[in-house]
Amino acid sequence: MKDTHKHQGLRNQLATILEAKGITDTKVLAAVRKIPRHLFIDSSFEEHAYQDKAFPIAAEQTISQPYTVAFQSQTLEVKPGDKVLEIGTGSGYQTAVLLEMKAEVYSIERQKELFMKTSLFLPKLGYIAKKIIFGDGYKGLPEAAPFDQIIVTAGAPFVPKPLLSQLKVGGRLLIPVGDKIQIMTLFIRKSPKEFEKHELGDFAFVPMLGDKN
Ligand code: SAH
Repeated sequence: MKDTHKHQGLRNQLATILEAKGITDTKVLAAVRKIPRHLFIDSSFEEHAYQDKAFPIAAEQTISQPYTVAFQSQTLEVKPGDKVLEIGTGSGYQTAVLLEMKAEVYSIERQKELFMKTSLFLPKLGYIAKKIIFGDGYKGLPEAAPFDQIIVTAGAPFVPKPLLSQLKVGGRLLIPVGDKIQIMTLFIRKSPKEFEKHELGDFAFVPMLGDKN
């Protein structure tokens, strides 16, 4: 697990690219400059780690594009101590960004292989989530609800009701909705019964898996 000056230089460049693409949150940019993304992917593909691209990880899944991670992190408006639920732990990179933003993170992963790998790997880098759970993100995590923010990092065919109901009033659900291309959709809970909906542009994610696949 080596992290060198060269990696640091590449991270600074990546942060500059993200800034040029519209990321302004200094806490997000600081996290990108700090987190050794090359350690989250297979070492033989290390040279791809600091390009602004998604990349295959295990179990036919991907580590999200840095811009997407930065955009979602910025849009969540995480404050220190906020309780965040992440659906789709994957490589754990997004989890690490949320932890750098001082959130209390609960993260659910549907693929056993990734769940096992990432729940062992994150603590090795000093990233301690409140809980990483092997389970189905469609149900959310009722036992730890309500959350300040919920972030979905896979393309959802629809908006799961439990996720909306597990938000605090004032809380935010950020979820890419759609089949091939997803519309990044932000719900802000205005009151127990009212949600404000914002559509924030097109993104491409791997699909959120249901019970049968
Ligand atoms: N945040 C991750 C993104 C990984 S891709 C990263 O940057 O590495 C999306 C992840 O969502 C995959 O790991 C996939 O296995 C997981 N996933 C898909 N459907 C899910 C579900 N129903 N519940 C929880 N996780 C799910």
